[in-house]
Amino acid sequence: MILSFKPYLLEFKHPFGVSSNTRTHTPTVFVRIEYSGVYGYGEACIPKYLGETTEDTLAFLDRAARLLDGIESPIPESAIMKQVHTLSKVNNAGKAAIDMALQDLAGKMLDEPYYNLMGFGKSAPAFTSATIGIDDEAKVAQKIKEASDFKILKIKAGTKDDKSLINFIRDHTDKPLYVDVNQGWTDKYFVMDMLHWFKEKNVVLVEQPMPIGHLNDMAWVNESSPLPVIADESVKRLTDINKISGCFSGINIKLMKCTGPTEAGKMIRFAKKKGLKVMLGCMAESSCATSSMAQFMQFADFIDLDAPNLIKNDPFRGIKYENGKVVLNDLPGNGVELLDNNLFN
Ligand code: MG
Repeated sequence: MILSFKPYLLEFKHPFGVSSNTRTHTPTVFVRIEYSGVYGYGEACIPKYLGETTEDTLAFLDRAARLLDGIESPIPESAIMKQVHTLSKVNNAGKAAIDMALQDLAGKMLDEPYYNLMGFGKSAPAFTSATIGIDDEAKVAQKIKEASDFKILKIKAGTKDDKSLINFIRDHTDKPLYVDVNQGWTDKYFVMDMLHWFKEKNVVLVEQPMPIGHLNDMAWVNESSPLPVIADESVKRLTDINKISGCFSGINIKLMKCTGPTEAGKMIRFAKKKGLKVMLGCMAESSCATSSMAQFMQFADFIDLDAPNLIKNDPFRGIKYENGKVVLNDLPGNGVELLDNNLFN
């Protein structure tokens, strides 16, 4: 097998603000695995908060390329991923890229979409939220307008004055809201007040209100929260799920955190067994990675897979958005097509 990879900057249509920073680009690395003339594609979007860099990712992929070069067959993927995991204790995004590329390749070799390979079948179109980053009022109003096709909005909060932000949004739309605080609040009484106030404003869930370490406070909040509180930064991998038991009512699963679709599938099953709600999320990634995650839509309580809609130079085509819903296609593998034939040259 031949593993190729290419660093790439995904450009936002608008600068993207969250509680800690604003950015115009997201670094990503695209991956291609070739086996007897068939290509599988993957993506390692580099989330800063996981402590990964493009350099680390490229060095990891270089080691992985040497490993894959010595492996005869791309199937079974699970046996290959086992070896890939031994290359590094970190590099979750790089591992995710390889895992999704192997799934894509296997599907193409067998001429079946991933959802058929897994035996659960195609998910019906499902509503995704559209994310509105932190910005000045005029830009927020413009973004709400641009997201008019979407039926749910996800608001990045943790600003100086979140009540003003939500009130401003309510002047423009009455759509249900997901609010993502990105660890922005530290006082549990303030969190509880905000949750009650949000509920009156037709907010339907709140993501990661407090910093990762504040589990005792989150247990207190979760016990009487009027809204689902979803762990994002607090849960990266399967083994983190037990650590947040009782502290959140659901988890946001992302391929770049959890090392790929193989572990994402396990997290979905385990979360459901624990009575946790499942949200499928993404980094600011292209349709290469979101199309892999969207294979699992039928298992989700909440879907936040709008990243391709936020970027303007997506070199892939995969999932589509229709009337605010994510729609899968019938193509084999993860249903992704490379639009830029020079990407790996
Ligand atoms: Mg989040």
